[in-house]
Amino acid sequence: MLIRGGMIVTCDDQDRVFVGDLAIRAGRIVAVGPEASRALGAPCEVIDATGSVVMPGLVQAHVHLVQTLFRGMADDVPLLTWLRKFIWPLEAAHDEASLGLSAELGAAELLLGGTTTILDMGTVHGHDAVFDALARSGLRAVSGKAMMDSGAGVPKRLREGTAASLRESERLARAWTGAADGRLGYAFCPRFILSCSERLLRGCAEAADELGAIVHTHAAEQEEERSAVRELLGDDDIALLARFGIKGERAVLAHGVQLREDEMRALATAGTRVAHCPSSNLKLGSGIAAVHALRKAGVVVGLGADGAPCNNNLDAWIEMRLAALLAKVRSGTTSLPARDVLRMATIDGATALGKRHEIGSLEVGKRADVIVTRIDSVRVSPATDVMSTLVYAAQSRDVRHVLIDGRRVVRDGELLTLDAARVAARAREEAPKVARRAGLA
Ligand SMILES: [Zn+2]
Repeated sequence: MLIRGGMIVTCDDQDRVFVGDLAIRAGRIVAVGPEASRALGAPCEVIDATGSVVMPGLVQAHVHLVQTLFRGMADDVPLLTWLRKFIWPLEAAHDEASLGLSAELGAAELLLGGTTTILDMGTVHGHDAVFDALARSGLRAVSGKAMMDSGAGVPKRLREGTAASLRESERLARAWTGAADGRLGYAFCPRFILSCSERLLRGCAEAADELGAIVHTHAAEQEEERSAVRELLGDDDIALLARFGIKGERAVLAHGVQLREDEMRALATAGTRVAHCPSSNLKLGSGIAAVHALRKAGVVVGLGADGAPCNNNLDAWIEMRLAALLAKVRSGTTSLPARDVLRMATIDGATALGKRHEIGSLEVGKRADVIVTRIDSVRVSPATDVMSTLVYAAQSRDVRHVLIDGRRVVRDGELLTLDAARVAARAREEAPKVARRAGLA
């Protein structure tokens, strides 16, 4: 396949941008540049990208597909209330059908908006249904069931025994790692310190080490949550997680809003990754993460929409724009320019997920996760500086084509892997039923 005549934004080490072609064979990029067509024998399928940007698929380093069905059900409340009164009862009310549907709805939204890879935290039970939906959707994902063996306000159905939780995670990891032609991977997801015992956290770190998997959790999100951790365990969550072995290049911490400078340095030294979720942090009133300082300290920071009920979209373009704007308020107008934000949403996200060698930039040999986005509409013209256009002006509705492993999953704004209209219709039917089971309707 040849993608011809687009403005190619590589997100490679030199951030090269040029007009040219991109050639794909057997799921990988085989040539980028003016002579790319020579790498392919004629005839081949051609996508005309005139008037568009050709760029790496967007990577979201923190989402909850199982919560997509709860969009609009938990607005305008602080984090711990949001969890205990709404999200946990709703998750406990999920059955396999509603889990699969929620994942399909989320995957459809992500793909149509140009997100091609996610790091996803599920709920405690039924996670095979999420992986099934992911496999059908064509999305690339590192995903795992949420793990919870303690804590106040946890519904009975979400509380597991420590050993049972680890056993189920290990079973899922062995069953799904490398599935769907290698698109799926596993992450051990202890939810957060307040719902996990020390034994569970240590067990996660050990199992993830053994299996080479990611460990993904929430940390330093909100002040109220932080004080609760301090009161209960006598130290801050970042120090505790590190002590229990959750640190280093395979550990991805969502949020990090409350991080102090000494903690940023500790994360940088260990190589621990952070996922910045600006919409979620605003909507739950958590604050503005010091992303500029974190990056300056040397921490790899990805971007994520978090879940639909705390956002309420799963739109990487909104997160890019907000990340850039909020950094001006937090650290000054010159901080986090468009180029840096674009890297967070592509190559840095890929690095956070341990996939830098495979995705995140348009380079020969990498997997062909590629999106084609219009930059010739009235709303974004003139695209004088293409990176500025992408971060400050473009929106998810500008995404025309999406390829994952060189396979078309979105063509001219239409999802090819799932029936998007049917998924949305089923979601409208199913969501009130889950809310009723949760005692919320
Ligand atoms: Zn989250």
